[in-house]
Amino acid sequence: MTEPRAYDLHYGGRWQKPVSTERIEVRSPATGALLATVPAAGPADVTAAADAAQEAFDAGWGRMDALDRARPLRALAELLRARMGQLAELESAVTGRPIREMRAQMARIPEWIEYFASIAVGLEAESNLVKGGFVTLTAYEPQGVCALLTPWNHPVLILVKKLAAALAAGNCCLIKPSELAPVSPLILAEWAMEAGLPPGVVNVVTGAGPTGALVCDAAPVRRIDLTGGTATGRKVAARAGERLVPCTLELGGKTPVVIFADAPLDEAVAGAAFAAFVAAGQTCVSASRFLVARPLYNAFCTRLGARADALRLGDPADPATDMGPVISAAARTRCLDFIARAKAEGARLVAGGAPPDLAPPFDAGHYLRPTVFADVTPESHLFQEEAFGPVVSVTPFETEAEAVELANDSAFALGAAVWTCDVARAHRLSRAIRAGVLWINDHHKNDPRSIWGGFDASGWGKENGWDALRSYLRKRSIVIRTASQYDDWFAGKGRYG
Ligand code: NDP
Repeated sequence: MTEPRAYDLHYGGRWQKPVSTERIEVRSPATGALLATVPAAGPADVTAAADAAQEAFDAGWGRMDALDRARPLRALAELLRARMGQLAELESAVTGRPIREMRAQMARIPEWIEYFASIAVGLEAESNLVKGGFVTLTAYEPQGVCALLTPWNHPVLILVKKLAAALAAGNCCLIKPSELAPVSPLILAEWAMEAGLPPGVVNVVTGAGPTGALVCDAAPVRRIDLTGGTATGRKVAARAGERLVPCTLELGGKTPVVIFADAPLDEAVAGAAFAAFVAAGQTCVSASRFLVARPLYNAFCTRLGARADALRLGDPADPATDMGPVISAAARTRCLDFIARAKAEGARLVAGGAPPDLAPPFDAGHYLRPTVFADVTPESHLFQEEAFGPVVSVTPFETEAEAVELANDSAFALGAAVWTCDVARAHRLSRAIRAGVLWINDHHKNDPRSIWGGFDASGWGKENGWDALRSYLRKRSIVIRTASQYDDWFAGKGRYG
């Protein structure tokens, strides 16, 4: 992006001038430069966009055969495949994430759309012949207008995970992206129309939290799907409960990575650096608590520290950059607070701990050196709370039972990883550690077929897989009498059971 562009809202199949006059600046986290402005949508804007979604639903998207819906969805997947370079540059500019990361991520986006378009065609309901002369049928139907509330760390990936399942199921969507990264969702809405989706099927209103709250309250909304922080999750769940609208919550995490003495150290250190510092540690499953068997502990701390120190920070557009800035000044301040508290609580700084020295214009960005603390105790702030940035802890353990206890010592239960060559131990730990997504000898791997979601303070519900498709549908039961005569109960016929 060169010239800052002033975006309108995108709903009802076209760009729409906002009623609200308030605007939000979108700035590069790498330089502070103004990239774009977007409207802070108000009540009239949200109502108009929600109504457009309801009209599109009523006009037939929800009643279409899944095969017919699959055609424009596949066209959108192809369009995204053709434009993934452009999308990667946009994502990198707005989030500050290195272009290498965003190219890799954008290359996989079409898979989610193709997957959900395909499985929706294969969705089969059931029928039964039951006693007394009845046929019972089950039928799936879409829920209607779905609100998708999305964060800034993977603006396109997280949105498309939700959107692909929702649209394939026959719903229309009202999207509220993060105020920090709202541009690619707007562009996606424009491209969806170009791909042949009917107007009003994909609608985007931009704004901050208050706009999100308006979206949750919009009368046509029949389901809410949020990825965000636990505090926001509580508010959204309360609102959904008040309205009796189902919701899915994909919230924060404090991912433990358990490394046993039999793990190959080279691979475990390389895996640890990737798990912790890709996306500058800003993913819900970023490795943040390393639990390391005592025999490997000192070597692991030294080598992870060396890997962290060697990462190249700088221009996100440069393919040689390993790590970009964190998303905002507030995010960096939060990480620096974690660093100060960890030092005060007696943890040992192994790497990082401060912003890097970068040349202009990147000296104005929200960069922070990847930071590793050793000797972190379980009751400490850094061990328990989510930094959501490149600040990680390392803690030693003596026994398998202690490793499990430390891994489970968290309010969160989203991601976890175990590094070991012992197959039986890998299986034991995969059951013993409380986490919705668990990797053995790897991290971050994600696929449309592989369900994704946490428990407890990490939220509820699943993305990916049949679970996600079914969560965007409601299932009904239809009972048909096949017996030739109706049993008149009050005439003494029929029987219970
Ligand atoms: P938020 O929870 O603040 O935001 C998520 C989305 O919800 C945004 O679109 C946000 O708008 C919107 N929102 C905020 N308040 C409300 C509300 N009351 N009603 C409806 N919508 C609302 O997340 P952040 O982006 O600030 O990230 C903070 C935390 O979120 C992280 O520390 C992490 O725990 C978690 N997170 C988890 C992710 C995951 O993948 N599970 C990804 C990103 C963040 P806006 O941002 O414009 O205010």
